[in-house]
Amino acid sequence: MHWSLAIAQDIVEKRKEKKHVVATGITPSGGIHVGNLREIIIAEAVHAALIDMGVDARLIYVADTFDPLRRLYPFLPPEYEAHVGKPLSEIPDPEGRRSSYADHFVQPFLDSLDDLGIQIEVFRADELYKSGLYVDVIKEALSRKDELSRIIEDVSGRELPEEWTPFNPICDACGRITAAMVKGYDIDKAEVYYECECGNKGVASFKGGGKLAWRVDWAARWKILGVTIEPFGKDHASPGGSFGTGTRISEGIYNYPAPYPIPFEHILLKLQQEGTKAKVTAMSSSRGTNIPVHEMLEAVPPEILKHVISRVRPEKHIAFNPSLPLLNLVDEYEREIGGIGSGIAGKIPFRHLITLVQVAPVGSEEFLKVIKRSGYAVNEENEEELKAIEKKARYAENWLRTYAPPHVKFEVQSALPTEELKNLSESQKKAIKFMAEYLQDLPTTSAEDWHNEIYLVAQATNMDPKEVFKTIYIALLGKSSGPRAGWLLASLDTEFLSERFEAAEKL
Ligand SMILES: [Zn+2]
Repeated sequence: MHWSLAIAQDIVEKRKEKKHVVATGITPSGGIHVGNLREIIIAEAVHAALIDMGVDARLIYVADTFDPLRRLYPFLPPEYEAHVGKPLSEIPDPEGRRSSYADHFVQPFLDSLDDLGIQIEVFRADELYKSGLYVDVIKEALSRKDELSRIIEDVSGRELPEEWTPFNPICDACGRITAAMVKGYDIDKAEVYYECECGNKGVASFKGGGKLAWRVDWAARWKILGVTIEPFGKDHASPGGSFGTGTRISEGIYNYPAPYPIPFEHILLKLQQEGTKAKVTAMSSSRGTNIPVHEMLEAVPPEILKHVISRVRPEKHIAFNPSLPLLNLVDEYEREIGGIGSGIAGKIPFRHLITLVQVAPVGSEEFLKVIKRSGYAVNEENEEELKAIEKKARYAENWLRTYAPPHVKFEVQSALPTEELKNLSESQKKAIKFMAEYLQDLPTTSAEDWHNEIYLVAQATNMDPKEVFKTIYIALLGKSSGPRAGWLLASLDTEFLSERFEAAEKL
């Protein structure tokens, strides 16, 4: 049984709600990375399992756009120092393209969710506050401030300063949401009176003039949005952590049951350099290793990224290596689950495309010829088919550029690699002669034909087939290793091959 179904069954058994809301939430302070994606994929899987069981359920994502910019991140220009402390929704996009800093990071992530085929209702925290949805929970929080601080001190074990309040106003002079202290409030007028570090004194409305402290905000959101299920990083689940605080606040202040928690482990990213030990880094936004989902999706087909994450139970960590292990995983996926891409694209193994795009780049005139020579009857009139092939081939190209180890890369040498060929043995030269002759008899050959021929040549020359492979690589690529020889030979023009082998033999 898939873990998502086991969780869904447990939810139905333990919870009395008839309608469920599965919530996710990620702060868009930087690129939303693959580690963050795990939260959405877990939520989506459980949501889908509930729907399959006939349960009424919604799947939502709240972008924490009203959170402050914590510091000047290395990717920001120095003048953004002036924006530290302001809500992300109120800071301009560093590249000036979108409506805010928050949207600069939220939008590409939403586009990635589209690519992954994940449908989710999206809320932006700043809009929820500005719409007035939080007014009642803010009133409740301010009037029960002492109870709130007692809960937080009790669960977290840390002492809150005397002047702590659950509401952080935005200063109308400096724009920061982190620097103003509430000095008084009026529940009926729904406003607070504050003094800011910058010297400004002002009034802030409950309707968008500030935000609840985050442990309070989390619990308040459960009530406002009717959240009943929520996955979150296991750090929040630790004793004294924010989920414990949230639960006490939700039940004690808001009279709302805390959601069914699904704590999950980190994704460990392994970035491997050829010949070195894999470097393992936890993918969490606070620790630097940060590959945004949309960047990963340029080189990794979406179904693979989703598969990598969803096949592992939430409580287990995922070690993810986008280099050669990813290629092996794609092989396994294509063998056991299904081809990537529709129509003919789905029939061409990804690993094969890794070879083909190195013989002819995507978009070049030669590219389609190479695909056809490899035995795929592409209909050039069919735009959709061509697009699907091109899309898959782009992943292959980007993967080669970004994650491929050097030994996977090759270049067909347009000129005869004379230096390298000089060192061939007599048997190797004979092998080349046999292959040149073979081409004269059979002008078109499939990968399988070539494969069989190589073994025959090995027998005839009394060589290990490995030596024949090596000979072929030297003659074509100018180096002693390369991709599967049958695929490589079948993808190349036979006239080119004839000339090459004849020239190599005569050398
Ligand atoms: Zn200020």
